[in-house]
Amino acid sequence: MSSDPRASPQTGSRIPLCRGDVCKDCTRETDVIFESTDGFRLAGHMKLFESYSGFRPSAGMEVEGERHNPEIVKMPHSVRVLRLLFQFMHHDQPQPDIQLLDSDTLKALADAVHMHEVFPAIQVCKLQVEFQVLPKHPLDAFVYAAKYNCIDILDKAAIHTIDIPLETMQKLIPSSNRDKIVYAWFQYRERWLTARKEPKWEQHKNSGCDPNKWTIFYYKVLKAFGDVLSITLSDAESTIKKHENLLGGCEKCQLRARSLIYQFGMEWSPPFSSFL
Ligand SMILES: [Zn+2]
Ligand SMILES: [Zn+2]
Repeated sequence: MSSDPRASPQTGSRIPLCRGDVCKDCTRETDVIFESTDGFRLAGHMKLFESYSGFRPSAGMEVEGERHNPEIVKMPHSVRVLRLLFQFMHHDQPQPDIQLLDSDTLKALADAVHMHEVFPAIQVCKLQVEFQVLPKHPLDAFVYAAKYNCIDILDKAAIHTIDIPLETMQKLIPSSNRDKIVYAWFQYRERWLTARKEPKWEQHKNSGCDPNKWTIFYYKVLKAFGDVLSITLSDAESTIKKHENLLGGCEKCQLRARSLIYQFGMEWSPPFSSFL
């Protein structure tokens, strides 16, 4: 890699090779210079990029000057994203490792690879969102999945978005999918909020039954559910069992707690996508 991409391509009649700047070993002739939003220039291969992906100069790009001598294409991406995008488009070169990308760069790269239809990179970005972004930033993952129709990510992330205000959700979801996603999300959230309402406590005589214990038990169980990425019936079962000791030994409360498993199973298990 050269240290300063700004210095690499010359603006004279010859376009330098992309080797060193974008790829390690590419020896193809370059036929175009791309300019990033932050003013860096990278040499590239318009024909290769067009044949490998849905890459089109019209996709948010602006062609400047003559088509020869040399052509400079302004791209709506930072140099960091542009370099990764071009590395993915060199199908005979090692693909870049994006595991350590910060989440903003990953989102920008995901936008770029979708814009230019670089299909193998789309899949890699999706996996990164699922395994890196989702556990730490489920709302970001949800918004990404809403934008690009990734149903499995929507289903895993939705549970972590139910405390987000409706107005915020409306602002975050891209307009292309907003009505459909926000309406489904609203219905999904209502189901959760209903399930979350604490069942009325009942006094069980001669059993050490205590309303405070029931309340603590109930909220600890809810909290534990909030920490599980996707709720399944068996998650519900083991979580409730784990907290039963909080009920102070009242057997009727314990029985009631077990019946919650089915309530949670019934109320909580429909995935977000079932509302779409
Ligand atoms: Zn190349
Ligand atoms: Zn009781």
